[in-house]
Amino acid sequence: MTDKIDLHTHSTASDGTFAPSELARYAKKEGLAAAAITDHDTVDGVAEFMAECDKIGLEGVAGVEISAQHDKTMHIVGLYIDHENTRLNEKLAQLRGGREERNRKMLALLRENGMDITKDDIISQKDGATMANTGRAHIAAALVKKGYAETISGAFEKYLKRGRSCYVKRFTYSPEESIDMIHAAGGIAVLAHPILISDDYAALRPVISELKAVGLDGMECYYNNYTPEFRGVCFDLCAEFGLLPSGGSDFHGANKPDVKIGTVSTGFVPYSVLEGIKKRVGR
Ligand code: AMP
Ligand code: FE
Ligand code: FE
Ligand code: ZN
Repeated sequence: MTDKIDLHTHSTASDGTFAPSELARYAKKEGLAAAAITDHDTVDGVAEFMAECDKIGLEGVAGVEISAQHDKTMHIVGLYIDHENTRLNEKLAQLRGGREERNRKMLALLRENGMDITKDDIISQKDGATMANTGRAHIAAALVKKGYAETISGAFEKYLKRGRSCYVKRFTYSPEESIDMIHAAGGIAVLAHPILISDDYAALRPVISELKAVGLDGMECYYNNYTPEFRGVCFDLCAEFGLLPSGGSDFHGANKPDVKIGTVSTGFVPYSVLEGIKKRVGR
């Protein structure tokens, strides 16, 4: 068994380009000992992913990545969730309703800005795509395909990121509600990529303190773009607030071509990280 794991990956259930079973097989092929599926605002890929993991002998972790209300980007990953939990599923359905509304508004804005882009351009990108299970990554890919941007990240820079002409806010729950729905489903709640909130200890500390007060269990100390210094900041905050270190690549397949499964900026996430998490969840 290798020592390498990845606790943050996406499938076609959200904005990754590998189907859940392909994701499991790819993780195995790349030599991972364990992997979590953590799609945005949906658990629709979990059953297929876990079944494939069982079949091929990969340790699978059922997960989700929930977008929470914040000025910056706040994503909370749930690990070891019961993906059939009613409360979790009801809340995730609300989030997807917000995606549907926002996708329509963003399409209208892009068209107002002179771009010929339709709903079909979005939902032709994966099997089973709807306006509720797609997002900005799919809009970006459509813009690239139609020649309005050179790369997916270029499309974000030009039109889609917060503050740009075609950005629209969508419905999200508060951090507390987001953490609660993960706990209701038996999972642990991990702050994803805190670097998107701030790379500075002094600025991050109060945010972590507030999240801890409403039940946060862990934070990602390993990610695809951390400096060694920022990784140190994360470990310090984990120690200070009694949080579990977690992490992963945030693999999205071709939607994030520079990100490799199982690979983080400092190398890889060791299996000992999962041991800490499993102890907490009693597995
Ligand atoms: P959404 O959840 O629909 O708002 O879309 C957010 C997703 O878009 C993120 O999870 C990433 O997958 C993707 N994304 C955000 N910013 C960028 C970027 N600069 N380059 C590539 N993908 C991005
Ligand atoms: Fe994404
Ligand atoms: Fe995220
Ligand atoms: Zn992610």
